[in-house]
Amino acid sequence: MERDARHDLQTDPWGHLAGELDAWTTGATGAATFWWRDDDAVADGPKLQRLLTLATNAPLALAVIPARLDSSLAAALGATSAPVSVLQHGFAHLNHAPRGQRLGAWELGLHRGEAAVLDDLVTGREILEGAIDKFLPVITPPWNRIDTQLYAALPGLGYRGVTAFGPREVAQPVAGLTLNHAHCDPVNWKKGGLFTGEAKAIGQIVAHLTARRSGDADAAEATGLLTHHRDMDAGAWAFTARLIDTLQAHPAARIAAAPELFP
Ligand SMILES: [Zn+2]
Repeated sequence: MERDARHDLQTDPWGHLAGELDAWTTGATGAATFWWRDDDAVADGPKLQRLLTLATNAPLALAVIPARLDSSLAAALGATSAPVSVLQHGFAHLNHAPRGQRLGAWELGLHRGEAAVLDDLVTGREILEGAIDKFLPVITPPWNRIDTQLYAALPGLGYRGVTAFGPREVAQPVAGLTLNHAHCDPVNWKKGGLFTGEAKAIGQIVAHLTARRSGDADAAEATGLLTHHRDMDAGAWAFTARLIDTLQAHPAARIAAAPELFP
């Protein structure tokens, strides 16, 4: 644990991350794979352009809300040379769970019946497929919540993956459907979208990497950064840019593109 003593997470978070990545260099675990997902895209604008500029440095999986898709987003994605894949962020990002029962918000729960949810997903998929040629049939559930009972029907509808939040428990819950979640969210939603701070965000990344190395988490699941371009403050943007640069510069780290994670 000498490494941790020299690069304490609280006082030297970037050194702490470098120490963890160094452990992947010397270990027998192979590359420390990462990936990058950004949620809630609907339209072009200065924030989306800022995101796409950053994405010229690393492959980006952009989760788009089909029912709110503005034609300006399709145009922006058609024009960019950044390596972007488009995922399906639910259908309309609406909560269908009953209120007042502390259930949280669910669009992809079973509160309105499975058929209604699957119909929405197929409709949304047709919208995205028709508008954007960078579409990958992977579902990003709004609020990172999906009832796992829906998994069985998804491959038959043409989906090959689901991405929510937290270490995956299995790689393939049903044949033909791969999970790869996100593990770091640098936005503090309880504080109105402020940056969580470097120590908290890097702590989430290092926790997942350490769990992968030790066998406490699936070593083959790429560690995911989840950003929200519409909501991030200056601190979260700066963190995202520095993280991408740090990972691209470290010999043990590799940022994978979404098509590789959802075969
Ligand atoms: Zn969302």
